[in-house]
Amino acid sequence: MINLEIPKKLQQVQQMAHQLSATVFRPISRKYDRIEHCDTPEELKPVAQMMASMRPSRAKAAGKGANDGSSSNGANLTGIVGMEEMCWGDVGLMLSIPGTGLGNAAIQAVGTAEQKEAFGSLYCAMAITEPGAGSDSAAVSTTAVEDGDEWVLNGTKIYCTAGQRCDAVVVWATLDKSLGKAAIKSFIVPRDNPGLKLLRVEDKMGLRISDTAALSLEDCRIPKANILGSAEIANTEAARKKAFGGVMQTFDNTRPQVAAMALGVARAALEITREILEQEGFKGDYARTLYNSSALEAEVYRMEADLDAARLMTYKAAWMADNRQPNSTDASMCKAKAGRVGNQITLKCVEICGELGYSENYLLEKLARDSKIIDIFEGTQQIQQLIVARNLLGLSSRELK
Ligand SMILES: Cc1cc2nc3c(=O)[nH]c(=O)nc-3n(C[C@H](O)[C@H](O)[C@H](O)COP(=O)(O)OP(=O)(O)OC[C@H]3O[C@@H](n4cnc5c(N)ncnc54)[C@H](O)[C@@H]3O)c2cc1C
Repeated sequence: MINLEIPKKLQQVQQMAHQLSATVFRPISRKYDRIEHCDTPEELKPVAQMMASMRPSRAKAAGKGANDGSSSNGANLTGIVGMEEMCWGDVGLMLSIPGTGLGNAAIQAVGTAEQKEAFGSLYCAMAITEPGAGSDSAAVSTTAVEDGDEWVLNGTKIYCTAGQRCDAVVVWATLDKSLGKAAIKSFIVPRDNPGLKLLRVEDKMGLRISDTAALSLEDCRIPKANILGSAEIANTEAARKKAFGGVMQTFDNTRPQVAAMALGVARAALEITREILEQEGFKGDYARTLYNSSALEAEVYRMEADLDAARLMTYKAAWMADNRQPNSTDASMCKAKAGRVGNQITLKCVEICGELGYSENYLLEKLARDSKIIDIFEGTQQIQQLIVARNLLGLSSRELK
């Protein structure tokens, strides 16, 4: 039998994260939407401490290890439930909590015990995107060259979340561009390394409190041990595919987390919209057939159904990761669905509420701005659909572009 209720343990996580969102994030949401490029908000420092004390030792990487058929609600599902609640409060503030960077997820997924010990508690950003490499992450041209006991990195990274405020950046670089994907490795670069320079921070449409940095690496020297995974370049086609697949595996864990961000933002917009409508006498009656409902009721029901569908897909992808089932297709499906639904719901809420939706007196216009990026970063909706198509059709990235 399928039980779609979330277990008690996760309900507690949900309640705690909701409480945090309602009491810490929401009251300062508008304030920090207006202040860009500030230091980490003081209000987030105790939150970071609390989260560090609660963090599970490590999220399991999907698809690895023995699959004994057992079921567990582990770190990934817990993360999803907490993420939706925190992003119901404010997605930009959530991304600005020290210690919650995408680089942290990469270190947890593929780092050695020593790397986890050394960097696990730091605030680690992830720098993949470059002026010439966005959706096509295999096109990165930042180089890493071995020199004695060190790696020397050179290149430019753009749109790096937390690139200004973080303690370290996980940088994607190639050991040999002519060897394509197989030669791409990730390296942990401490933020205060003299070779890692901040070029600028971006002004943005949404997520304004979250810093987004352009960085340059100029003869940036780091210890040999700071490579994530093996420095070997696979020498057969199958081994190369596997090696890059290993790097990409981080996303099988993080894409459901990003989908959960979209769920939180969309749910916030829908709840505010219902409150506004209820003040105007909107009741809603689920027992009535759709054709006996008003156009407005039908719009609200469709949004609620879309949100639920996206949530179930997201839970499934996270559950698969927790249970060591390969979840690449499901991770991309939930990211594409939740990203799209998030954009549609938040904009529709602005539309339904008219001038109240557009006004800064409510958070609806902000939620619509914040929601847009969730459909872009961590792989756009179009790229997620491409990944799903490749997986379903059994085609490689060379065969289906
Ligand atoms: C606020 C913000 C934070 C970010 N944070 C980070 C971060 O922390 N680390 C990081 O590395 N990057 C980060 N990024 C970068 C982000 O991941 C990229 O913007 C994203 O991957 C898209 O790349 P691009 O902007 O180069 O767009 P492009 O790749 O140029 O794509 C442009 C458009 O074309 C579409 N498209 C591209 N290829 C195809 C195809 N084959 N089929 C169909 N459609 C296609 C895309 O879907 C998109 O709509 C961030 C970006 C922003 C705006």
